[in-house]
Amino acid sequence: MSRSFLGLPGRRSGGFPEAAHHALADTQLRRNLRKATTTIRTKRARVVGELADWEELREAGRAIKERTLRHLDVYLEQLESAVIERGGVVHWARDAAEACQIATDLVKAKGETEVVKVKSMATDEIGLNEFLAENGISAYETDLAELIVQLGHDKQSHILVPAIHKNRSEIREIFIREMPSVPAGLSDDPVELAMAARQHLREKFLSAKVGISGANFAVAETGTLAVVESEGNGRMCLTLPETLISIVGIEKVVPTWNDLEVFLQLLPRSSTAERMNPYTSLWSGVTPGDGPQEFHLILLDNGRTNVLKDEVSRQSLACIRCSACLNVCPVYERTGGQAYNSVYPGPIGAILTPAMKGVEKAATLPYASSLCGACYDVCPVKINIPEVLVHLRAEVVDSKRHRRLPTGEAAAMKAMAWVFDSPERLERAQKAARKGSGVLARDGIIGRMPGPLHVWTDTRDAPALPAETFREWWRRTRGQR
Ligand code: SF4
Repeated sequence: MSRSFLGLPGRRSGGFPEAAHHALADTQLRRNLRKATTTIRTKRARVVGELADWEELREAGRAIKERTLRHLDVYLEQLESAVIERGGVVHWARDAAEACQIATDLVKAKGETEVVKVKSMATDEIGLNEFLAENGISAYETDLAELIVQLGHDKQSHILVPAIHKNRSEIREIFIREMPSVPAGLSDDPVELAMAARQHLREKFLSAKVGISGANFAVAETGTLAVVESEGNGRMCLTLPETLISIVGIEKVVPTWNDLEVFLQLLPRSSTAERMNPYTSLWSGVTPGDGPQEFHLILLDNGRTNVLKDEVSRQSLACIRCSACLNVCPVYERTGGQAYNSVYPGPIGAILTPAMKGVEKAATLPYASSLCGACYDVCPVKINIPEVLVHLRAEVVDSKRHRRLPTGEAAAMKAMAWVFDSPERLERAQKAARKGSGVLARDGIIGRMPGPLHVWTDTRDAPALPAETFREWWRRTRGQR
């Protein structure tokens, strides 16, 4: 594999703080993000406010996901049987390597060297495009935003709007540079840009024999897959090629069509702030004479059963990838998605990535949050993201306990525990700290603390210690200990 699972190639290493520091220096990026997230956020709040039973819908979505995850094995087997019954083939992939190999073998078996793709986070997660390229197969992204990212040799930064970090003039430059068919004098007018992309893609749609997709939902009772998109490009990918390969995370299963109905109401309002989704494609196996005549479903685990085992993190598998949590997150709005070094950025990425990969491999992500709770408030399936973040932070701390040399934080916490364990020690420490505080403070504020403590004051001021502690006040006013 050309990249490790969930990590993105070409990204800066060193974790979220370093990548965020780098992103914060990019003022154009911050302007683009602020404009885009503010617009989507405002529209979403308006359309969600139109529904009197929005909270009941959210609760229904949460309950369906919870029940499905509790009986995931049963629904997956039901899905498998229904897909096979309708002429499809089902493959099970334990990890990214297996899923990539299965998909590549299927394309090779058709003797093809080109595939068209519908926007799919699962295929991004497993690094499918890179794997196909290593095997001599070119994958063409057909979603407009994914196309911009692919042509720009860039990485996506938003679940729904992967090119959110690019403005119109930057997109125009990419098109002029990368599209041979682009008309002379292309402007940055959105209609002109969309027409240029359409021209570029049309040829691929008509020539490709294999299409690759993900799916937003998979209905167990009928083996039906659903792709929800806004442009219609997905529909062309799903219907024109002779062979369709769908790579779908095992958590995407929903038991029945009645359950699907709930999510088809929750998703468009939460994601693109639309009352109804423009293009919802549904297909069940193979229909003779209509659409692809060969259908393969690859069911992907890739760490999901590890998340399922964890009673607190499990709720993150309920995510329907609406991106509402990204658009309200003050951290995401300033750093953008690439700082998370994961296919899944923002608050959901901060919990899903470490839960799937293991906290040792993404130890800084659970801290990429102010724990303000805005993500929880907007999540259409009520994932308690702050709760999972705190749980994962505890796991990060626990994962460092076995080290022979304790971290600075662990040593400091041990010392604090020793001090807090005794009233006398605490009082002596407070007196000493007050003396130090008196020397360092200016106008009641400590701007920089000495030694390793400077990390705290690098990004915030610390208040000077008060002249009197609570215990001293108590003794003075009540005359007792
Ligand atoms: S966690 Fe919730 S709000 Fe965020 S993308 Fe998933 S479903 Fe949407």
